[in-house]
Amino acid sequence: MKKHKLTLPYYACIALASLCFLNTSILEAQNKKKKKKNADTEVVAEAPKKSKDKTIEELVKSSKEIDGLFKIYQDTIKGSLQMLISEDQIGKEFIYFSQISNGVMDAGRAMRGIYQGSKVFKVEKYFNKIEFITQNTSFYFDPENPLSKSKDANISDGNMASIEIAAYDKDKKLYLIDADNLFLAETFSQIKNPSRPGASPTEFKIGNLDKSKTKILGINNYPENTNMEVEYVYSQPSVLNGGSNAVADGRNVSIKVYHSLIAMPENDFEPRFDDPRVGYFTTEVDDKTSASSTPYRDLIHRWNLIKKNPELELSEPIEPITWWIENSTPLEWRETIKEGVLQWNKAFEKAGFKNAMVVKVQPDDATWDAGDIRYNVLRWTSSPEPPFGGYGPSFVNPRTGQILGADIMLEFAHFSNRVFYDKVYELTSSTKSFENLTSNSNDHTYCFLGDELHDEMMFASSVAEAAGASDFELERIKKESMTALIMHEVGHTLGLNHNMKASQLFSPEQLNDPDFIKGKCLTASVMDYAALNVTKDRSKQGQYDDVAVGPYDIWAIQLGYKPFKTEAERQALLNESTKPEHIFGNDADDMRSPGKAIDPRVNTGDQSNDQIKWAIDRIELSNNLMKDLKINFSTTGESYQELRRVYYLLSSQKGSAANTISRFIGGVYVERSMVGQEGEKQPYTPVSLDDQKRAMNALSTYVFAPDAFDAPNDLYNYLAMQRRGFNFRTPEDPKIHEQVLGYQKAVLSHLLHYNTLQRISDSELYGNKYTLSTMMSDLNNAIFKSDISGNVNSFRQNLQLEYTNMLIGILTNKQGSKYSNLAQSMALYNLNAIKGMTSSGGDISSRAHKQHLKTLIDNALKEIK
Ligand SMILES: [Zn+2]
Repeated sequence: MKKHKLTLPYYACIALASLCFLNTSILEAQNKKKKKKNADTEVVAEAPKKSKDKTIEELVKSSKEIDGLFKIYQDTIKGSLQMLISEDQIGKEFIYFSQISNGVMDAGRAMRGIYQGSKVFKVEKYFNKIEFITQNTSFYFDPENPLSKSKDANISDGNMASIEIAAYDKDKKLYLIDADNLFLAETFSQIKNPSRPGASPTEFKIGNLDKSKTKILGINNYPENTNMEVEYVYSQPSVLNGGSNAVADGRNVSIKVYHSLIAMPENDFEPRFDDPRVGYFTTEVDDKTSASSTPYRDLIHRWNLIKKNPELELSEPIEPITWWIENSTPLEWRETIKEGVLQWNKAFEKAGFKNAMVVKVQPDDATWDAGDIRYNVLRWTSSPEPPFGGYGPSFVNPRTGQILGADIMLEFAHFSNRVFYDKVYELTSSTKSFENLTSNSNDHTYCFLGDELHDEMMFASSVAEAAGASDFELERIKKESMTALIMHEVGHTLGLNHNMKASQLFSPEQLNDPDFIKGKCLTASVMDYAALNVTKDRSKQGQYDDVAVGPYDIWAIQLGYKPFKTEAERQALLNESTKPEHIFGNDADDMRSPGKAIDPRVNTGDQSNDQIKWAIDRIELSNNLMKDLKINFSTTGESYQELRRVYYLLSSQKGSAANTISRFIGGVYVERSMVGQEGEKQPYTPVSLDDQKRAMNALSTYVFAPDAFDAPNDLYNYLAMQRRGFNFRTPEDPKIHEQVLGYQKAVLSHLLHYNTLQRISDSELYGNKYTLSTMMSDLNNAIFKSDISGNVNSFRQNLQLEYTNMLIGILTNKQGSKYSNLAQSMALYNLNAIKGMTSSGGDISSRAHKQHLKTLIDNALKEIK
């Protein structure tokens, strides 16, 4: 039979399985003729019925065998896949992990190196089928507790696939299944992003999965993991919008994905549980048999680092965390990258490990790909539309929190002078991308430090250039910020999440002392998105960015990795959280978005323990630079693109600094120390009256005042983009009023946010002395008082109208009924006050503006009655 099979076509092979070869094959042929129309379905319907009598050997005869965790057979003619499951794999748990091997920004999150998370699945047998079932890992039941008998109640597992067994080997206890549907469809994970609600109909969308074009690109099988690279093709007959230049043909878009099926690690890894005082990534687990008000068994993500010599205070690990610098990395950056990674060894030494981190370079002739999960790779790309300058994802065993692999993606754009975003004066790029990218995903490892740093680096370089700095100094800015970026992204891969409060460590005076900061981390942690240290007084300029890990980092690594002898020892270390250098607050607490959080110390793009003073300095520094911009940034023989870039850069720095200041108004400091802990502070303390007043005065002067955005008028004549073919934005003139109003609106959207106003009223009950009525009266005065009786310049007209409309919005509930009664009363009071202030004085333009204001208010008052 075997001999015959080699030469027979597929349908005849099936027929051969029956003993009457001739008769059956004739019948088969006749049937085919009779039912020509249904030919396809007929063959498919018959195949399983007949193939069940074939042996595994027969079914894989024309296939290449690829041995590994799950043995794979690939047909040498058609490329189709079969997979072998052994009896001892049935009922067992495995880990599934996937990452994007290559894609385009246009397809949502489908970009090279994006991790799609890991999950646990079980292989089960159900009669004649093999099932792949996702396990729910979110709950814990104490096995000693009788409740554990009902641990499956109201919890859904996920049956991803149920595939008929094609052949069974009784002796070897092996099952063969067709694996095309496992890997060529979106069986294990969703690849195509669902379209966003409210997405514009003209927005680019990829088509539907085209199975005929989808194919296996590579199979790498190892004893511990089975890996498959698949190219998914999404097709549609026609497109309205063909996507960006990165898409060659909008009708056919490819997303390449690595799938990995991984053996559940069998080791004595000890899970550690999360503590709110330190910031590790976690897998959240609820203890359903605990009566505690905090029934959490959240597993922190950490590597399985074990001392080679446990008796030694300082020992090398049995297996270090090894990093590979991808061979695509520019040669001149390799040493800096290596040094950045190895800085973490200082933290591990405090945790008892010597040489915990090791760095190697991927050889140019390496036989492995950087996407191989067995290697942790520092990767380097130059993407058409880089979403971030750096990204440091890791993936874990969801049962224990053990980190199994990690990569770091770096973007060349980080070191270019390109501006990543178009409308620079809207939200900062990071806020924008953060919101877009995280809305569809639970991936908390997105990191936008690269973007922030890129802006900061351009700012620092512009200040240095304007002051005539040497090339050496400009290189130093790049090197320091690269070191900081690497340390930060590596920190993520060690399990640490952001610490946006870390920049509170030093005072402005300390940061202005080059000797004091030399060789240090400029904040408590490299996990912050701190602004670069750029001094207003150039003679005090020292280090620009972190060159070492910070004190918080060293403490946190000890908590995650130190082999504690007792729980008391761990608790004692945790109790050091009240030390100023262990200050911590992450993205959930940070105030980068208007109205989102409450502690102004937890913020991005800021610096020092006096952010108001720091922000004023930065605004003044930008204003000073603006004066000689044209002289310093115009180059003979070149276009004005560079001048335009620096103008928008300085303006956005001012906008960002203004936002930092605004967060103090209505702010409440948060402490997370435990009851009775040494150095304990009450959880909520409103910002002092002095600081809130100081913030309001600063906003009045630097954001709202009639001259706040003065720039040399003849500068505007030169803010020109360089023309490029037909692909040129029109109309091209600088939109100066829109830009300035953008910064002012950003500040107002925080001050007048329903959360901010509600908190001001509430915190009056527990220590806030800057009352809602005072704050809103001060704001009204800041926006109207200085010019309402005379001429109102065009920036102020814009601001006053926008603000008035916002007050009307509060009253007329255009934002729903989220505003408190107290806030609405003050909005009404202010509208009446504006009406009262509005005289008929001033030039025609000012009178027109005031009439407009009056009409708006009158109409609104009529509406609310
Ligand atoms: Zn980050």
